[in-house]
Amino acid sequence: MANVELWTRQLQDQRSRRVVFLSHCLLNENTRYLGGACRCGAIREYVDACLDRGLGIVQMPCPEEHAWGGVLKRRLLWFMGCEGRLRYRLRNVLLPLLLWYTRRVYRRMSRQVANQIADYQSSGCTVVGIVGVDGSPSCGVRQTLDLRRSLEWVGRLPATADAQSMNAIVRASVVEGSGIFLSLLRQEVERRKLGTPFLGHDLIAELDGKGALIPF
Ligand code: SF4
Repeated sequence: MANVELWTRQLQDQRSRRVVFLSHCLLNENTRYLGGACRCGAIREYVDACLDRGLGIVQMPCPEEHAWGGVLKRRLLWFMGCEGRLRYRLRNVLLPLLLWYTRRVYRRMSRQVANQIADYQSSGCTVVGIVGVDGSPSCGVRQTLDLRRSLEWVGRLPATADAQSMNAIVRASVVEGSGIFLSLLRQEVERRKLGTPFLGHDLIAELDGKGALIPF
């Protein structure tokens, strides 16, 4: 077994031993729902803030990418503009199934992220926060999305709908509460007594074209 304390002391270097865990799309908006990317790639304000504060950035996986059919979340696209079809009429039966599967995938992912946080802490690093995305049904910290309502409206989207139509649905479906992934992650963090603060990025402000207010 390596003498961790000895070598950590001997091989002192520039590392700050401070990191922040960011929701995936804050560094890569290519995973956002179609119509929801306000930047080409990363949100510069987060990158700049981390560079200025000497923080390492840990990019969490995008849970919807893993549970809902890849980068384009194809399982969700299946519901778009489907009014009049059988799947639209069955949406209230299909939604609980989708949520059951989603929770299964998210639980596994939340354990992996919590393990990673625990490893940083036991390696002498401070995790200054976990930043979710308020308004997301998966990553919201203070606000989430009413999935039943948004699914109904998404089903009624006409083929001529654009990003504005999609974002109007998102704005109208935001409710108080946490997203599924972030609430499972919070349970894991609390169960292990890691004490990491949860912070929210304001998606609606981003859609409104406002600069990102860095929450840490
Ligand atoms: S908010 Fe979460 S689920 Fe949505 S795109 Fe960002 S990382 Fe993925």
